[in-house]
This record gives sequence, C-alpha cells and structure tokens, in this order.
Amino acid sequence: MKKVVIIGSSIGGPATGNLLAKKGHTVTIFESHRTPGGYTAGFCRSGFYFESGTFGLEALASVFKVMKDIGVADQIEFVQHKTRWVTEDFDDSPDSYAEFKEMLYSAYPGEKQRLAGFFAEIDKITAAMDGMDKPMPYLYRGIPYLMAILSYLPGALKNAGITKKYWNMTSSEFVGMFFEKGDKLYRLFAGTGYYPDMPAFLIAGALVGVFHDHWTVKGGMQSWADVLADNFQKLGGKLLLDSRVERIITIRRR
Ligand SMILES: Cc1cc2nc3c(=O)[nH]c(=O)nc-3n(C[C@H](O)[C@H](O)[C@H](O)COP(=O)(O)OP(=O)(O)OC[C@H]3O[C@@H](n4cnc5c(N)ncnc54)[C@H](O)[C@@H]3O)c2cc1C
Repeated sequence: MKKVVIIGSSIGGPATGNLLAKKGHTVTIFESHRTPGGYTAGFCRSGFYFESGTFGLEALASVFKVMKDIGVADQIEFVQHKTRWVTEDFDDSPDSYAEFKEMLYSAYPGEKQRLAGFFAEIDKITAAMDGMDKPMPYLYRGIPYLMAILSYLPGALKNAGITKKYWNMTSSEFVGMFFEKGDKLYRLFAGTGYYPDMPAFLIAGALVGVFHDHWTVKGGMQSWADVLADNFQKLGGKLLLDSRVERIITIRRR
C-alpha cells in the first residue's frame, strides 16, 4: 500500500483519490480553496445557484464508468442538456441531430446544396468516430483492457485516412471548404466546438454529441464535487481544505 498526495480537490483529484482509497492506499488531498470543486463547482447569491465554470460535460466515454467504479453513481443524477440554438434566423431546441439539420435547411433554403455537402462530410467523420461513446480502454486493467483495445482496432484501421486528414486540418479550414468566410453559416459552424480552431475531426463530435452526450448534474456541479469529497473521506481519505501546496519536494523520485 502506498502513501499518495493529490493536489487539488475539483473532480479529477477526488475521482482519483476515491479509486486509490478504495484500493486501500493512504491518500491525502490538499485543496487551496475553502470548498471542493475547482472549476467544476457553483455558488449561491441572493437565493440563486450559479455554476462557476463547467455547465455541461460529455460523460459516456469515462465519467459514468468512473462514478460507478467509485460506487457513487446512485448519488449523482446526471441529466441530459437540451440546447437552444438562437440566431436572427432561428430560435429552436432540436431534440436530435436530424432535427438540427432540418432546422438549418428550413432557415436557409438557398444554402441547401452547401449544407448537404457539409453534413455529408460530417456524417463520414461521425462514422469514423463510431465506438468512442463506449468507456475508453484506459479505464480497464488486464484482459478487459485488451478486449476494449481490440474492439477499437478494426474501426481505427478502417478510418485511419479520414481521421488523419481531419486531425491535421483546423475547424475553420474545414468549414471554409463549404461556406464563404464571414457568412452566417461559416460563423455558426466555425464557432461551434470546444475551442477556436480545434482539429476539424472534433467538429463532428461537438455537433452530434451535443444531442446525446451532453449532461449536467441535478442540483448543480457543486453537489457532484461534494459527493466525491464526502465519499473520499468515508473511505478514509484525508481532505485538507484551505491548504495551499507551496512546494513539492522530491527525494529519490518520491
Ligand atoms: C469558465 C469555465 C467554463 C468551463 N466549462 C466547461 C464545460 O462546460 N464543460 C467541460 O467539460 N469543461 C468545462 N471547463 C473545464 C473544466 O472546468 C475543467 O476541465 C475541470 O474542472 C478540470 O478539473 P480538474 O480536476 O483538473 O481541476 P480544476 O477544476 O482545474 O481545479 C484545480 C483544483 O486545484 C486546486 N489547486 C490549484 N493549485 C493548488 C495548490 N497549489 N495547492 C492546493 N490546491 C490547488 C484549485 O483550488 C482547484 O480546486 C470550464 C472551465 C472554465 C474555467
């Protein structure tokens, strides 16, 4: 059994701490703030709750499995986000990617051909991403890890070409293949995603994922951070709040 120190009690620190404490390691988490949560937290003012950072997350590839492994899945109610799309040309909350496409086709009838070309390419990328909604192989150990890796291999080999092509292109370059720079649809699609000019391959995940893998937590993100922190302490972990780490001293790689 090992002695482990974790710096930061947001989501990553306590998730790791819970898993290690569950295995019997002695874990201490140092957190500089007076409450846990980091950027995945919230606060109340005048009777209203506000998220302080994270407001939605993709959970199928890792979060649900990790919460289950820790044993807190039944204490956190993840709720699917419904996204409202608002511009001067439309204001709607499509339930699915197919409805999202329909919304754009009816808002921009003159752009039918260019939209069709764009969506056709997005659909190819989505097909190449098939399987990425399953828990990632690194969440497993031993034989289950090998089985998970093997299940990815055929798809990864088959789609290597399209994956490489669109990892090496920015999202704006990709959108620029279909729409004039500065046009409304150019701005809509080039501005969709995790960060500006991300790899084009990720546009498909961002556009399609928002309809089936975009979750919030009932009660707010702070309640999730609190559940993880409480469970960690129940497992014997030590959580030190208001405890900023100033320096990390290593001796013989420890
Ligand atoms: C405004 C904003 C909005 C975001 N929205 C989203 C979103 O919608 N969806 C999404 O998936 N992601 C979002 N993110 C990103 C997401 O918040 C982070 O990826 C996630 O919180 C990272 O978690 P973490 O466990 O790495 O720690 P962090 O949340 O980065 O927290 C680090 C923790 O370490 C503590 N700490 C730091 N230094 C020390 C020290 N020296 N000693 C002790 N403690 C220390 C901090 O106080 C903090 O609690 C957003 C981020 C921001 C800032």
